Parts: sequence; structure tokens; C-alpha cells
Amino acid sequence: MLVSMIESMKIAREKGYCVPAMTVANEHMLRALIAGAEAKKSPLILLYMYGNNPDIKYFGRIIRDLATQASVPVSIVLDHGEKYEHAIDAIAAGFTDIMVDRSSLPYEENVAQVKELVKIAHAIGVGVEAELGHVGMGGDMSQNVFTVPSEAKQFVEETGVDALAVAIGTSHGKYKGEPKLQFDLLEELRETVSVPLVLHGGSGTGDENLSKAAKLGICKLNIAFEFYRSALDVVQSEEFKNTPYAEYGMYGFMAKAMQETAEHVIDVCGSAGKAE
Ligand SMILES: [Zn+2]
Repeated sequence: MLVSMIESMKIAREKGYCVPAMTVANEHMLRALIAGAEAKKSPLILLYMYGNNPDIKYFGRIIRDLATQASVPVSIVLDHGEKYEHAIDAIAAGFTDIMVDRSSLPYEENVAQVKELVKIAHAIGVGVEAELGHVGMGGDMSQNVFTVPSEAKQFVEETGVDALAVAIGTSHGKYKGEPKLQFDLLEELRETVSVPLVLHGGSGTGDENLSKAAKLGICKLNIAFEFYRSALDVVQSEEFKNTPYAEYGMYGFMAKAMQETAEHVIDVCGSAGKAE
């Protein structure tokens, strides 16, 4: 069934688990991720990076169709959504939620831009996630700015956002070096901030770290890199090379690998069996 991710996250927050959020770019991927969530009876959030499919409106229709038919709750959110036009496009494409990431801007500008889109989104029942502090790229921790709890509380009150992405030591893309998550900071944020918390840059952070973060108050875990990596790895595997005419079944191989990754991420999040 198609639901807003805010609904799924609120239940997760109450019950102490995390809803997995997985990147999606085309129909094969979409079906693989939904199959994984159905097999594990887990709620699912789909992340869409603007431009990853040639036609957001048509892809939006496919997502809505398959999500509606799914036996578990499925949401579709625009991930990051750096431009105003992207957010409007996603809403027009039927997305249940948008992320409005203005975390690289100064605080006041972040508040102003998020607030404007919250007003539009809420008018038609679309949920909004924003980010305070900043999660950098590729394990370059010098780009990271940890979230300050008192500022986060104020930000949520001023903007009216439904969910907040926080920076506690993860990084987007492939992690270089040893990840060090600030669990004390996460616990403080969980106590201080009234809306569900989101963790970006989950790939390469380590299952143990992520499971702990899920238990301590992260209600949505974003994973993207690992899905592309698992699809690439399988077509370079011996199994693929040794299968006659494997090329014709290439998308099947990739889908199977991505479904396995999805099921693994669900186990890490503790969301198996939680779909109602
Ligand atoms: Zn992100």
C-alpha cells in the first residue's frame, strides 16, 4: 500500500526500529526492492535522486501503481531535492514525501527555503524531511558539520518539518577509513527533537553501527551506494561469467542481487515483520 513515510516513521519511532530507505532508479530495481520488503514483511521507503530516471512523471506513475499493489507500506520520497523545481516536480509526479536539503546553506536561509516548501507540501498532504548539520561525501569528514541538538529543536519548530536528517558521523557514498558515529549525540537529539530522525550515508558504516543507531532513535536509514555496488558486482562475478548466455538475463541477475541487499538492510534496520 502507498503511504507517507512520515506515517511509517512515526510507528517506527514509537516501537523502536528503523524503516529502511533504498534508492530506486528504474522498474527492475523498484520490483526487486518491493519483493525484498514483501519477503521480509517490512515497511519500505523508496529514495529517488532527481535525474536518475529520464521521466520522473512516468516513473512516478509506475512507482505509485506497484506501491499500491504491494502487501507492505511503501513510500516514495525525492532524495535531497536540491532545487525548488525538483520538489515541485516530485509532488506533481505523485511522490508521497520530499526531502528539502538546504544543509549547506546558512541556518536562516535553510529555514526560509524549507519553510516555503513545507507550506506547499502540507497543503496537499506531502511529508517533508530537511537536514540540519551536514553529511558530506565519500568519507571526507572535513565536509561534515555535526547537528547541534538545541539548534535542531528550534529548526523543527520554525520550519514545521516532519522529519529531520542529522549529521552524527556518517558520509555519503563509499566510506573511507573507520566510521565513528556519535551515539551520545544521537541520544541527545532523540530526546530533544520532536520529529523522527533520519540517517543519510549508511553505506559502508558497518552493520553493527547502523543497528545501534536504529535502536537509539534513527527512524529512516538511507542506503544507495550498496544497491548499485551489488548490481555491478554480480555481473562481474564468476557465476555470471560461467552462466551460458548470462547477458540475456543480466537484469534478472542484478535484480536478485539488489533484492538480497534489500533483505540484508531490512535485517540491519530491525524492520522485518513490522509491516501491518
Ligand atoms: Zn543523503
